[in-house]
Amino acid sequence: MAERPLDLHGRPLGVLRLSLTARCNLACPYCCPDLEDPPDLLTLAERVALVEATVGLGVHTLRLTGGEPLLHRRLEELIAALQPLRQREPNDPRGALREIALTSNGVLLGAERARQLKAAGLDRITLSLDGTDGASVARMAGLGSPAAGDAVLEKVLAAIRHAREAGFDPARGALKLNAVITRSGNADQLLPLAALAREQGLELRLIEFMDVGNRNGWEPEQVLPAAEMVARIGAAWPLEPVGRTPHGTAGRWRFRDRDGLHLAVVASITAPFCGDCNRLRITADGVAYSCLFAANGTDLKPWLRPGAEAAGLEQALRRLWLQRRDRYSEERQEAAERRPAPAEMAYLGG
Ligand code: SAM
Repeated sequence: MAERPLDLHGRPLGVLRLSLTARCNLACPYCCPDLEDPPDLLTLAERVALVEATVGLGVHTLRLTGGEPLLHRRLEELIAALQPLRQREPNDPRGALREIALTSNGVLLGAERARQLKAAGLDRITLSLDGTDGASVARMAGLGSPAAGDAVLEKVLAAIRHAREAGFDPARGALKLNAVITRSGNADQLLPLAALAREQGLELRLIEFMDVGNRNGWEPEQVLPAAEMVARIGAAWPLEPVGRTPHGTAGRWRFRDRDGLHLAVVASITAPFCGDCNRLRITADGVAYSCLFAANGTDLKPWLRPGAEAAGLEQALRRLWLQRRDRYSEERQEAAERRPAPAEMAYLGG
C-alpha cells in the first residue's frame, strides 16, 4: 500500500472539498460569492484525475461544493465518472472513495435533478437554509425583498421533499440542513429553524459565522457562540451531548424527546477543531488550500494540463500535505491578530 502522508502536526488526509463553481445563484452577505467563475475552470477529466490522486493519498470522502455546485451542468456526469473509485476494495493499494456528498442551497434541486443525482451515485446532500420566513431568508441570502425570500424558501422546502423522495434518507444521515447564524442577521431564527428540522426529521447543523475571506464584514460581535445556540434550543427541547466524531467539524447533541434526531453545531470560532483537521480544499480552477482560512493556495493546473508528467500531480499533492502546518482557528484564539487577504468562502467552498 502506498504510504499515506501525515502533515507537520501528524494529521492524515481524509476529506476533499472540491468546488465546482465560484459563482452562486444567491448573494449571501456573510459569504459574498463571486459573480463570475474564474476563466480557467477545470475540465471533468481533470477533476476526476484530481480526486483519484487525492484518494491515493488517503481521501475517503468527497464533498462537492461551490459557489453553487448545482450550477455545474456536468455534475451528475462527474459523480458517475467517480464511481469506479467507490467500487474499489477497502484495502486497494490505490485507496478507495467511501462517500460522495453535496452541499447546496437547493434552489435548483427539482425532482428530476434529485433523481439524477441519486442515480449517478451521490450518497448525501446537505442543504443550506438560514431562516423560515421570507424576510429572514431574503436578508441572509442577499435578496431584494421578502417576496424574493419567500420564493427561495419555497424552493428549498421543495428541494427537501425532492431529495427525500429520490432516496436521500435523513434517518440515515443522507439529508441534512446547514444554517449560518449571525447575531444581528438571523439569531431570531434559531428556534424556528430547529422546529422546521424537527418537523422534517432532519439534522440541523448550526454554523458559527466565520471570518473567511475579506469581504463579508466579519466582526467578532456578530458571532453567536455555539454554546449559546445549544442553550437556547435546549431550553425549548432538552438536549444531551453526543460529542464530535474524530476529524469531524460538528459537535452533536441528541434531542431527548426524539429518538435518533440530532442537532449539530460547528464552532470553528469558539471551539476550534484544527487538531485533527483532515480536510483539503480545491477550488473550481484547481487551486489547493490546506486550510479554510489560508491566504495562499497551490495551483495544481500545471500538473493537470496536457503534457504534464503522470506522477507529478500526486507528488505535488503529497508535498503540499507533508508541508501543511495550518491551525488558523486555534491560532486566532491564541492571538487575536488577523492575517492578510484570505481567500473568499465561495471560492473555497466552505
Ligand atoms: N452554495 C452552497 C450552499 O449554500 O451550501 C455551497 C457553498 S457554501 C460556501 C457552503 C456552506 O458554507 C453553506 O452552508 C454556507 O452557509 C456556509 N458559509 C458561507 N460563508 C460562511 C461564513 N462566513 N461563515 C460560516 N459559514 C459560511
